[in-house]
Amino acid sequence: MKNIDFSKLTRPNIHSLTPYEAKELPCKVRLAANESPYCLDITPDKKVLRKLNRYPDPDGKELKKTIAKNFKITPDNILLGNGSDEIIYYLITTFGGHVLYPVPTFSMYGIISQAIGEKHIGISLDNNFDLDLNKMLSAIKKYRPKLVFLSSPNNPTGNCFSADRILKIIETSKGIVVVDEAYQPFSSEKGFLPMLKDYKNLAILRTLSKIGFASLRVGFLIADKGLINEVNKVRLPFNLNALSQSMALEAFRDKKAIHTQIKTLVSERERLSKELSGMKEVRPYPSEANFILFRANNADLVYQKLIRQGVLVRNLSNSIKNSLRVTIGTPEENNFFIKALRKSVGGKE
Ligand SMILES: *Cc1c(COP(=O)(O)O)cnc(C)c1O
Repeated sequence: MKNIDFSKLTRPNIHSLTPYEAKELPCKVRLAANESPYCLDITPDKKVLRKLNRYPDPDGKELKKTIAKNFKITPDNILLGNGSDEIIYYLITTFGGHVLYPVPTFSMYGIISQAIGEKHIGISLDNNFDLDLNKMLSAIKKYRPKLVFLSSPNNPTGNCFSADRILKIIETSKGIVVVDEAYQPFSSEKGFLPMLKDYKNLAILRTLSKIGFASLRVGFLIADKGLINEVNKVRLPFNLNALSQSMALEAFRDKKAIHTQIKTLVSERERLSKELSGMKEVRPYPSEANFILFRANNADLVYQKLIRQGVLVRNLSNSIKNSLRVTIGTPEENNFFIKALRKSVGGKE
């Protein structure tokens, strides 16, 4: 049989991409993907299981109604996605480039732009990991981006961007500004939902992935209904499966339990921050999310030593020198991590 080099057939913009690597190293304590360490005990509605032969509701009507009630908006302000990743894909497919975002930030804004073949620009954050307003505004003037993505709290730095800088960007931009609030539930700031009524070009991304339901793949976009209507033109008809729709409804019924878990994680984050601050070999950055970014000398080596002790964190040294990101786990997992880190930076194991 003839050999085929498939990479010769791919579009040129795909050549520089590599498959997204979600590390599946067998570690006892997994603190690398910003998942919740808690799993709520919910089951799908039996009625759903008796209708697996039928396509799911293409509009996710029930789920949208529930989300609308929770966020005090209307269902036509919502677009559901198979994770917010899919919505990022849809937004860039719908509006195209230029796509603008600060760096370092969530990698998918750039990766998806590249995959679709749209121009994308990353603008460095300032020394406090806040938006460099002058640079952002001049990039907006120069490139007139159709889309600006601002993850706040930002992954992987953990901080919220200054609200007044975000507002200035929304006010200046003729395109759409997407505030990605994947980590908003862990933040002490109030977020941008209240601003929706004042700015038509503001869109907000939310997800269930970081608050206990990563495997369901449920994300949603909240925006003006005119904007939602445009993105709906490219949405695949049955993008959110019936099990996920049903389970997400169950999740919203368990709001109180989720809220309690979030409170525990926030207090664990503060405890972990203090512990890290007390270690002379590392330097943690303030966080409003369910993870902490920290600096450590020889981060690559520390990362490997942690793995050998059964702890997986995220090595970010490629984008931020000598930096690792640890997701907040259960109190036991966090203790295990701290112990392992002490051994790793202390030269022992
Ligand atoms: C994790 C993450 C997402 C992806 O969420 P899914 O809903 O699981 O696709 C989106 N944005 C940011 C900033 C994230 O960190």
